[in-house]
Amino acid sequence: MGNFVLVISSPSGGGKTTIINELLKRRKDVKRVVTATTRAPRQGEKNGRDYLFWTAGNFESAVKQGAMAEWAKVFSDYYGTPKAGLESLLKKNIIPVLNIDVQGAKTIKKLYKNSVLVFIMPPSWAELKKRLLARRGGTNDINLRLKTAKKEAAQIKHYDYLLINDKLEQAVTDLSDILTAEKLKVKRSKNNVNRKRI
Ligand code: ADP
Ligand code: 5GP
Repeated sequence: MGNFVLVISSPSGGGKTTIINELLKRRKDVKRVVTATTRAPRQGEKNGRDYLFWTAGNFESAVKQGAMAEWAKVFSDYYGTPKAGLESLLKKNIIPVLNIDVQGAKTIKKLYKNSVLVFIMPPSWAELKKRLLARRGGTNDINLRLKTAKKEAAQIKHYDYLLINDKLEQAVTDLSDILTAEKLKVKRSKNNVNRKRI
């Protein structure tokens, strides 16, 4: 009951990966779930650290076996969350953080009702384009990503929090504060206050 899944979404280039990496440096109670994809690794990305880079065949058989908590086709590739990684963190009372798209976020909320959903937005579309162009390894389908970004922003209503990623340090502090407040919610408390004493 106490623990929960943290779901982070944003338009591509919005800063999810960067913010999550910074959050992990600050907090020991959060760990990233490495998700699977059939897209090719970008420059500097490592199998098992950034993603599980699977073939379409591997991915389809994992779906058939019921091994995925959710999966979606994003752009022209499959992306999905293996159940095992997520469940093992929940059991250890560590907050699993997922960097997934809007479709995946909705599925996770249905499956794990007390999940906390955070949507990250860049300060402007112009800044988003700049960040996408500057990103290490580049992105060849910038126009498609920008078009998709505007559609995704219309889905913010399904999320619990909206975080603006202007100054990175502030955005990470805001996210960490959200987690602290969520952990202190009465509904998540393990009832360790002895009310008879009050
Ligand atoms: P996502 O994972 O959402 O696709 P990334 O974390 O890869 O986005 O960020 C996209 C690019 O923007 C990266 O090059 C990253 O270094 C840069 N970036 C992220 N946050 C900021 C920020 N607050 N200010 C400036 N650049 C940023
Ligand atoms: P990228 O190719 O830029 O790494 O990611 C593209 C999109 O796929 C991002 O919006 C990212 O959040 C999403 N994504 C990554 N992993 C998963 C996953 O396991 N499931 C879903 N539904 N989306 C994912």
